[in-house]
Amino acid sequence: MQDLVNDFFIRHQSKLERLTAIAITLPGLINAASGVVHRMPGYDVQEMPLGETLSTLTGLPVFVQHDISAWTLAEALFGASRGAQDVIQIVIDETVGAGVISGGQLLHKRGRALVEIGHTQIDPYGQQCYCGNHGCLETVASTGSLLQLAAQRLTSQPDSLLHHQPLTIASLCTAAQQGDRLARDVIAGVGHHIGRMLAMMVNIFNPQQILIGSPLNQAADVLFPAVSSTIRQQALPAYSHEIQLTPTSFSDPGTHGAAALIKDSLYSGHLLVKLLQG
Ligand SMILES: [Zn+2]
Repeated sequence: MQDLVNDFFIRHQSKLERLTAIAITLPGLINAASGVVHRMPGYDVQEMPLGETLSTLTGLPVFVQHDISAWTLAEALFGASRGAQDVIQIVIDETVGAGVISGGQLLHKRGRALVEIGHTQIDPYGQQCYCGNHGCLETVASTGSLLQLAAQRLTSQPDSLLHHQPLTIASLCTAAQQGDRLARDVIAGVGHHIGRMLAMMVNIFNPQQILIGSPLNQAADVLFPAVSSTIRQQALPAYSHEIQLTPTSFSDPGTHGAAALIKDSLYSGHLLVKLLQG
């Protein structure tokens, strides 16, 4: 890794003077406190001490955080949940995950970083998930599972607008907005599954705001009513009746998550302590 780090710094030498800290956001199983990446989807990574290694090589404070947790922090500092003290942010994409802000603080900020909802069992008789369990939320609400379900149902719906075009999340959302029954049904189905999970979370965290970050937000007029009606049916009315359900400001958080980690550590004094220690 030393060569890669050296190459990077040689290439960006002109900007080095202004560098005070490094923040990295990535998917997988991460310990934000120790900077260890336990596992990462798509890469053969096991117990990689990323934070410590980079800090030793550069002499800089290094922050490592799960991408969804960092995105949740970015929305709280620069985006749709600015100023809110209690927020649940759910991300529906190839995986399903969540970040929680409780009392103005990101939950699990300095530990195992994700509110791991994707592998909560929704259907005990459902299909097997890659985690080994059956019927996880991710097997019924990830974008991959949604496309699979739409493809299965397409054979029995000859009138669907989804025939004669590639089946993608974008084409599914466009068809839903044009009133296609099949597209609307499968997206609403995801909304009901997500709503059931959120109803449980609402009863635990009593948030003032719920954010949804997803490519399915292109069909928000189908997805959001399904999510909110399920929450209202299944959560405590006193908790659910005033919740605002909104899309995230950033459809792709890009570097906002990493910037949020640095800003948050400045506010909390954590970065100053690290700089003094360094
Ligand atoms: Zn699973």
